[in-house]
Amino acid sequence: MKTPWFVEKLHAGYSQSLSIDELLFESKTAHQELMIFRNATFGRVLTLDGIVQTTERDEFIYHEMLAHVPIFAHGSVRRVLIIGGGDGGMLREVLRHSGVEQVVQVEIDQAVIDLCTTYLPNHSAGAFDDPRVQIEIADGVEFVQATGERFDLVISDCTDPVGPGEVLFSSPFYQGCKRCLNPGGVFVAQNGVGFMQPDELVDTRGRLGPLFADQSFYTAAVPSYAGGSMAFAWASDDVRLRTVPLDQLTRRFAQAAIKTRYYTPAVHQASFALPAYLLDLLDGL
Ligand code: SAM
Repeated sequence: MKTPWFVEKLHAGYSQSLSIDELLFESKTAHQELMIFRNATFGRVLTLDGIVQTTERDEFIYHEMLAHVPIFAHGSVRRVLIIGGGDGGMLREVLRHSGVEQVVQVEIDQAVIDLCTTYLPNHSAGAFDDPRVQIEIADGVEFVQATGERFDLVISDCTDPVGPGEVLFSSPFYQGCKRCLNPGGVFVAQNGVGFMQPDELVDTRGRLGPLFADQSFYTAAVPSYAGGSMAFAWASDDVRLRTVPLDQLTRRFAQAAIKTRYYTPAVHQASFALPAYLLDLLDGL
């Protein structure tokens, strides 16, 4: 029998294909089309609405960069809000910091949590059972607009701006995130692949930039997010947090005693250096 292929058509005129070497689960949840399959190169792969969300082989790059960069930059994160992130990888990385006392995770789709716990158990690695965690099944925008809780860090671990995740790139969402941050807090978000989705960077700068004293992006190449380096949005009213000196990051990293596979203090610092074509894109915005 011929091996079927999953074809992701996220970008105009360009697609990426992954062989479905074993189909593990396929269904329509209350919110989106969900598929989990095994691919010879990436291991188990989660897709939602035809778009790759995470893979066993390269998830560490994405999760380490979106969790550890803001936590080590801030230096004393105690309370964290994660929006989305139903696969549990972000929760796992955030909880590795012993200084983190509470994490609230707001995921719209319970089925993603349940199916990832079953088929991608190494992503959450038990994180959903940690007593520091409170899971809310709700829309992220509604939560940040209504909650009375305050956080040192908000991480938007969202889908691309299609389907239920579209609102997580809107001004009302960013305004809500700003209102539930403690003074000096940090907001970070997955923001697409800059080479393929330049409009996502421009839109985010236009919507998020006016709300904070400092807004920029940092990057990391995540192979299954095809087409170049992934951009992560960064925003804070503390302008110093984006340029914490290397020796300070190195001290914090050593104190945390966390073994990473991608993150290092030097990678952290370098990730904020943007190539000229992205700086030109954002120039004057
Ligand atoms: N790492 C992934 C990426 O970059 O594509 C995203 C991972 S995670 C699977 C994204 C999660 O966001 C999904 O589980 C989805 O259900 C959730 N999500 C989408 N829209 C949401 C919303 N409005 N509120 C809360 N969670 C949402």
